[in-house]
Amino acid sequence: MRSARLAVAVALAIGSPGLTGAASQQSQPARYDVLISHGTVIDGSGARPVRADVGIRDGRIVAVGSLPNGTAAEIIDATGLMVAPGFIDVHTHADDIAGTPRAENFVRMGVTSVVAGNCGGSALDISEALTKIRETGIAINYATLIGHNTVRRAVMGTENRAPTISELAKMKSLVWRAMADGAVGFSTGLQYVPGPYAKSAEILELARIAGNAGGLYASHMRNEGTELESAVQETIHVGEMAMCRVQISHLKVDSPNNWGASVRALSLIDAARARGIDVQADQYAYTAASSTLGIRFPAWVLEGGQDAIAKRLNDPDQWVKIKSEMRDLLSERGLSDLSFAVVASYRPDPSLNGLSMKQVAARLRGSDAADAQFEAAKAMLLAGGASMVYHLMSEDDVNRIMRHPQVGIASDSSVLTMGDGVPHPRGYGNNARVLGEYVRSRHLIPIEEAIRKMTSLPADHFKFERRGLVKAGFAGDLTVFDASTISDAASFEKPHAYATGIPYVLVNGVVVVRKGEQTGALPGQVLKNSGAK
Ligand SMILES: [Zn+2]
Repeated sequence: MRSARLAVAVALAIGSPGLTGAASQQSQPARYDVLISHGTVIDGSGARPVRADVGIRDGRIVAVGSLPNGTAAEIIDATGLMVAPGFIDVHTHADDIAGTPRAENFVRMGVTSVVAGNCGGSALDISEALTKIRETGIAINYATLIGHNTVRRAVMGTENRAPTISELAKMKSLVWRAMADGAVGFSTGLQYVPGPYAKSAEILELARIAGNAGGLYASHMRNEGTELESAVQETIHVGEMAMCRVQISHLKVDSPNNWGASVRALSLIDAARARGIDVQADQYAYTAASSTLGIRFPAWVLEGGQDAIAKRLNDPDQWVKIKSEMRDLLSERGLSDLSFAVVASYRPDPSLNGLSMKQVAARLRGSDAADAQFEAAKAMLLAGGASMVYHLMSEDDVNRIMRHPQVGIASDSSVLTMGDGVPHPRGYGNNARVLGEYVRSRHLIPIEEAIRKMTSLPADHFKFERRGLVKAGFAGDLTVFDASTISDAASFEKPHAYATGIPYVLVNGVVVVRKGEQTGALPGQVLKNSGAK
């Protein structure tokens, strides 16, 4: 039965010890549901690519190797293509996936599993949310965290104080309930109200509940720029005291006067890992954030709707005060004007789209000085505001963070609808951008390392059992892409564009993208962490 000769020949041809036991069954014709043949497998472990066929049956990978005699209901010719585990995006806001079950922005960039409930915001009733998802059916696999802001708001509204003993007990019981109902961990969003009102002691009490249930602690930290190091220390401290795994969300340095701080942030992660704290991070592959024009104004200016805003901006005395506060907000980050800000979408005058505020000021005010930029921003806010792109990160920090072996790739995106709004392009392009821009064009990291960061690294940390590798016995989540053409097509100006160079995506053995088109199949499952004690 064994074909020793064939196995040796294959091993020589691919120069790899990557053949599993399944390869010895080759000589016997085998029947698969799907056979991906003649591709190059990047298995997700960080191992070098090898030529291999992949046989899938009953939702699982059952054979990896040379399968020349295999037959299948569907044979995918992957000649010239890479076959990787489906990408696992552990930092998303896909909480409303039941309303948009095809999740096409994720699927089309090769993502087969998402984790929602990040940055402190999730469903409060996890059981109800997961039941709805199971009933609707979804294209990709889904897991959720329970959000701290959600829990805190349910118990104590937006009160700016520590919880009483009974309030803390209520919050703990809500986190316990959520974990019992299938949440995979606990998240904070310490820059979003009411998150900033919570001290470390409260957070670690709640993180401990999640940790005891086998979950992890994921944090959008208190600060991502000027106070980055102390924020990383706090996050690690919570994990250490609560004895749970830690995920630092969208690690970045968003203040120019602290650029370079990624060196210290990453060394804090290394030091914590050396002491036995299992901390990892994730990042999106862009140097710009995306937000409203309004966030450059003091928060009090934006209260009470457009009429109230206009009244304040049009009052000459108030405007002097507002401008001075805008300058202060910028100087806290080491900035002196709005030249880092680019207009993504300004409905009243789309000819401004793509211009920096320096260019806008020159166009509208005849000067590109800081004062003229503030005046231009005021005029735009009065006309209804704009969607902006903020170039606040340095390429050096993004690169350094990406090279770190404990940092995964995650989009920070919600489920998007084609043409709706002006979202950050990461929601359509993040994984493809890493593979096209950072791997192929810039040679920042090897392709097998990029794939590991998208697959086995997050799968192991979140304890998604038998996911994240192309290996017999693992789930049939697979992304087939062309390493020479894969690209993000979404830009800040035109974000609604699917990634290219990804002809096939399978979820639980079912083809969800065929020849670059979504099939409409909804084979996604709700994922649990296998670390439950
Ligand atoms: Zn966040």
